[in-house]
Parts: sequence; structure tokens; C-alpha cells
Amino acid sequence: MKVTVFGVGYVGLVQAAVLAEVGHQVVCVDIDSEKLEALMQGNIPIYEPGLESLVVENYNSGRLSFSTDAAQGVRHGEVQFIAVGTPSDEIGAADTQYVLQVAETIGQHLERSAVVVNKSTVPVGTADKVANIIHQALRARQRFSDIHCPVVSNPEFLKEGSAVSDCMKPDRIIVGTTDKQAEAVIREIYAPFNRNREKIMVMDERSAELTKYAANCMLATKISFMNEVANLAERLGADIESVRMGIGSDPRIGYHFIYPGVGYGGSCFPKDVQALIHTSSQAGFEPKILQAVESRNRLQKQTLFAKIADYYGRDLKGKTFALWGLAFKPNTDDMREAPARVLMEALWKAGATVQAYDPEAMDEAQRIYGQRSDFRLCGTKEAALSGADALVVVTEWQIFRAPDFDLIGRSLTDRVIFDGRNVYDPARIATRGLNYYSVGRAPVI
Ligand code: NAD
Repeated sequence: MKVTVFGVGYVGLVQAAVLAEVGHQVVCVDIDSEKLEALMQGNIPIYEPGLESLVVENYNSGRLSFSTDAAQGVRHGEVQFIAVGTPSDEIGAADTQYVLQVAETIGQHLERSAVVVNKSTVPVGTADKVANIIHQALRARQRFSDIHCPVVSNPEFLKEGSAVSDCMKPDRIIVGTTDKQAEAVIREIYAPFNRNREKIMVMDERSAELTKYAANCMLATKISFMNEVANLAERLGADIESVRMGIGSDPRIGYHFIYPGVGYGGSCFPKDVQALIHTSSQAGFEPKILQAVESRNRLQKQTLFAKIADYYGRDLKGKTFALWGLAFKPNTDDMREAPARVLMEALWKAGATVQAYDPEAMDEAQRIYGQRSDFRLCGTKEAALSGADALVVVTEWQIFRAPDFDLIGRSLTDRVIFDGRNVYDPARIATRGLNYYSVGRAPVI
């Protein structure tokens, strides 16, 4: 099928590459010409395992192409995916302006019937708005009667860090439409990903839009709940890792997504929780659980700094911290809303210096903080330790899991590790003569 994808970010680029891989003819349109230029040179602007070869091979085969010419893009696709950003606006609502701009563009240039598929995470009712904008533009061009253009809500559930495999093997494909023709087109386009069992779930547009928010908010709730219990465990002398395994063994709870830590970040959970809070208040409903999830997360991001400040009696001036992990989670270079940012900014404010290492997010950190004199990016995790007073682990990359503790001990002036992800076993650390502070467990002193 001929497919157009608007937006070549984490969602659009991965979806486009995966659709091209199974044989669809895909044109990607973006307003960021530098990004498109880089892609055409084979430079992938984001880190995502498996993405680079997929993009390069499909680009070279001619099944995947890139363009800033939106009109040409609109004319190409029988199916038009919208995968542009929906960031938080200043009051926490999802800003849908980019989605609505694409709708306008489609309405202005569409020359034949097409199905518009919205993959961006958007407030309930946005599919109706997108349809209205397209239909109005078609009416203005007197093409409303001969061009049929249904709008389907098809939220995306990929996870950064495993986006390619999530798109290749989705858990479910939510299709929000009441238009049987549109449903048939969506079934056809996703048929290669719907083979081993039925994954397509068809529902109305509003339910599909709410499904996406409900999924992210449920996951955020699990994290904030565990963080709350971890904070309690610290005060009660319990061990959150034992508690985690104890509750995870109940199949109604399960082991997934119940790791305590330093709060959730990234481009989705924080903004989606805020957006659903906003949607709720607009609907005249007070979302008490979501408000608590949000505020627990904001506080949780400050806990690591609080532990460090307590350890040093609040005086961090002149201290140097080795920081392992900048990305908001492993296997991505994304630092949007990353807990590392909150921590580093607090350390700098207190007069400390940060020496950081991350396997993939160094360029992004350089872009955001490169000009600071109290920030050094180091080529290896060992180099970050050199001359540091303490080590702080913020992102649980695999490469941090089994370090040389003797080297850590020799490198750190104060022989102390602050672990925001419970990566290490306190009993092991105790044998190395290091001090160790983690989340929801007794410190090793
Ligand atoms: P992103 O910021 O990485 O990329 C968005 C892209 O859209 C940018 O390249 C931008 O230049 C482009 N764009 C903006 N306006 C445009 C226009 N008018 N025409 C063409 N391109 C335009 O965003 P993302 O992370 O890919 O997220 C996209 C959407 O998918 C968001 O609504 C997000 O909430 C949702 N989502 C994201 C993820 C994720 O893990 N990142 C997962 C599921 C859903």
C-alpha cells in the first residue's frame, strides 16, 4: 500500500521503517528539513536498537523516502499517518496544534480518498476535530462529495528502547473507528503484524483515544505506587526488594513495572498523566489518583538529591559526582523529563560538579548542558569515576550492573555510591568497604 507518515520522531520514523520493511511504499514528511537531510545521508537522529539498518536498507531499496513537501506527501498516501508531537502546553494540556496543522495540510492537498490514521497521543475528541478540519478544507475546495476521508484513532504503544520490535510484534493494535471501509484498510495495512494471533481491537474513536491515556496512566500509577511503598519501607526498616518479590508473586499484581526508583520520565508518562488530569478537570471531574501519581513522581525525582545532601550535611560546594546514566531509561538517548536532569540541576545549584557517562545520551546531554563549566562528559564509566567524590547511578543500563567495585572504591574519595535504581546487592557492596544508599532499603554504612 502507499503510505504517508507525518513526523519522523520516535513513533513516525519507527512505524515508517517497519511498514516499509514489510513491503509498503512509505513517504515520510516532516517540517524539520535538517532531520530529513540527515536521514537521507543515513544518519539516524535518534538511538533505537535495530532502527538504523532498517531505515538505511529500506531507504536504499526505494520503499522508504523522505520529503519536506507536504503536498507531495498527501498526494502519495492511500493511508496518511499522523505521528507528530503533542507536548504539554503551559497548563499541562496536550498541545494538539501540530496534529491539527497536519489535518489542515491533508485537507488542502488530498486528491483522492484516503484513510487518515492518528498515531499521536491526543485528548479524547481529537479524531472528531481532525475530521472536521479535513472535511471543511475539502468543502472549501468543493471536493467533499468525491473524496472520502475517514479519520481513525490508532494510538501507538511502542516503548522507546524496544520500539522496532514493539512495532514488529505489537501486543495489541487499537483501532478506533466506526467506518467499516476504514477498518478494512487498517486491517490490510497491519496484516503482516497480525498473524500469530488476533491483535486488532476495534472500538469507537473516543475509546481508542482514552485507551492510550489509560494505559500510560496505569503504568505511571504502578511506578508511583511502588515509589511510595519504597519511601515507606525506608522509614519502617523494611526492604522494598523483598516486598517487590513478595507482591509480584501474586498473578493479579505480577512482576512487571513494579521496580522502585527515582521517578518516571520520558516524553510520554509525565505529559500523558498531566494531560489526562487536564481532560478530567475540563470534564468537571477531579482525578484524585492521577493527581497523587503526578505529585509522588515530582517528589520522587528529588529523593536522590535529598539522600546526597543528607549524607554531606547539606554542604556540596566543591564536591564532584560521577553520574552513571543520563537517559530517562536504558536503551534510549532520550533525556526528556529524565530524573538525571532534576538531580544534576540540584547538584549544580548546590555548587557541585558532575562527571557523567551514558552509553547513548551523551550527544543529547551535550546539546542541553554542553556550555556548563561544572559539567563534564566522560568517554567511559570508569573515566567518570576519576577524581570524583561519590558515584550516583541514575539509569539502569546493563553496562552498569556488574562494575569493578574495587576500582570504584579506589577512585572515589568518599567511597560512597548513591543508587537510584537498586542495581546492586547491598550485601556484596558491604564486603567491599563502600557506603551505599539505594531506594527503599537500609543503607550500607
Ligand atoms: P517527536 O518529538 O520525537 O517527533 C515528532 C516529529 O513531528 C518531529 O520530528 C517534528 O519535527 C514533526 N512535526 C511537527 N509538526 C509537523 C508537521 N506539521 N508536519 C510534519 N512533521 C511535523 O515525537 P514522538 O516521540 O515520535 O511522539 C509522537 C507522538 O506519539 C506523541 O503524541 C507521543 O505522545 C506519541 N507517542 C510517543 C511514544 C514514544 O515513546 N516516544 C510512544 C507512543 C506514543
